[in-house]
Amino acid sequence: MGHLTPFLRIASMLLRRNCAVTLITATPTVSAAESSHISSFLHEHPQVKHVGFQIIQLPHSKQDDPFYLQFESTRRSVHLLHPLLSSSSPPLSAIFADFFVASSITSVSTKLGIPHYLISTTSVKFLCLLAYLPELISDPAKFDHSFTEVEISGLTPFPISSIPPPFKDPNHLFTKTLLQNSRALSKAKGIFMNSLQCLEAETLEAVNNGGVLSHSLPPLLPIGPLELYEIKTEKGQYMTWLDRQPAESVVYVSFGSRTAMSREQIREISKGLERSGHRFLWVLKSSKVDTEDKIQLKDLLGDSFLERTKNKGTAVKGWVSQPEILEHPSVGAFVSHCGWNSVIEAARRGVPVVAWPQHGDQRLNAEIVQRGELGIWDRKWGWDGDKELVCGEEIEKKIREVMGDEKLRKMAKKVGEEARKAAETGGSSEKVLSEVLEFLQK
Ligand code: UDP
Ligand code: UDP
Repeated sequence: MGHLTPFLRIASMLLRRNCAVTLITATPTVSAAESSHISSFLHEHPQVKHVGFQIIQLPHSKQDDPFYLQFESTRRSVHLLHPLLSSSSPPLSAIFADFFVASSITSVSTKLGIPHYLISTTSVKFLCLLAYLPELISDPAKFDHSFTEVEISGLTPFPISSIPPPFKDPNHLFTKTLLQNSRALSKAKGIFMNSLQCLEAETLEAVNNGGVLSHSLPPLLPIGPLELYEIKTEKGQYMTWLDRQPAESVVYVSFGSRTAMSREQIREISKGLERSGHRFLWVLKSSKVDTEDKIQLKDLLGDSFLERTKNKGTAVKGWVSQPEILEHPSVGAFVSHCGWNSVIEAARRGVPVVAWPQHGDQRLNAEIVQRGELGIWDRKWGWDGDKELVCGEEIEKKIREVMGDEKLRKMAKKVGEEARKAAETGGSSEKVLSEVLEFLQK
């Protein structure tokens, strides 16, 4: 969903600017959330042409992450698209593709004689790390204990502990797929970034004005925060509950669409929330893929917790409309894994974040949140291969800190104002997209 959502948002931004849009999706999808969002998007935008193309399934083992397997299968199936697209009427004028297919989309766009742009679903900082990946991996000594930082010439160095552990293993599926794509980034006409000047000015400027990583990256095109698109669904009970809470009083807790917490960690979060005394809206997942997530809320949390906290909080299992939650005036803070979409959604309204990164790009994203004064981050909290239990008392402390910090609240609101300015007509992000569309029209 972290990849599909930005694509649907961009598709709807293009529709609003009178473009004809063909949406190409890989079939079958991994999660139920993906297929239901694709269906309702198409239902509400009947003018969109849909190409659902059957991807070739790869042999795999049980340990492989189903989402990464899907990325790799899609990457290897993209050549099948050419015949499906060559007879498009009206003919296509450009392809906007996910960076997970960067390596294979080039030959399709070349054959069609049209440019392709990539859409990045991560931060500028992490994209730079991806562009640098071939170099990083070519020298295993860079992972020696003597190195504590990753130094990409022209960029502020960052701790080696922030790079995803799979990068240390060139045979890891995640690393192999990204490496292939990394080598092809420069073939794109540009990369759309769902990012904000105020959060990533330094990195954006280093790449676009300083030529940092110039052999590996085309121009970066910041168009964040992406405009939201509306899905007309019934109002969730959690929204009616939010309506009844005082302004900025609720801590919203969610770790995105594919991150499940262990039973032990869920218990500690429940302690932290209860002890903090603050109101909360907590979205729980117990399996990575939603179709496998069958445990009931009361079996995860226990009846007594739910009973004790019924006047203070709401726990939800299943899909919620996160953008709607984050836009709600009752929400005062967001405990987040820092998936990049979540970060930018928090930035839109300036909701202060407690960063709790879990995998992949999320530690680099958390650093951006902290430096950009959108939130706080305790680097000692483990992640990925090094996931120590974070105890309830620590969680309580962080929640009290974020809810009590007036200065942070103000700073986060400032980020929200910047985000609004960027997206409005004539704003920096809106201009970038308009310029690309003007170019394509010529
Ligand atoms: N999301 C949502 N409801 C949920 C879980 C996720 O609306 O119950 C959305 C969230 O708003 C975001 C996307 O799904 O747009 C998740 O992307 P993100 O990059 O934050 O994290 P990921 O799920 O990829 O780890
Ligand atoms: N990963 C990621 N984002 C996610 C989930 C996983 O980037 O939302 C990466 C992460 O770096 C991890 C690898 O994919 O090492 C495999 O993920 P999985 O969750 O299977 O690993 P686990 O944490 O269970 O060892």
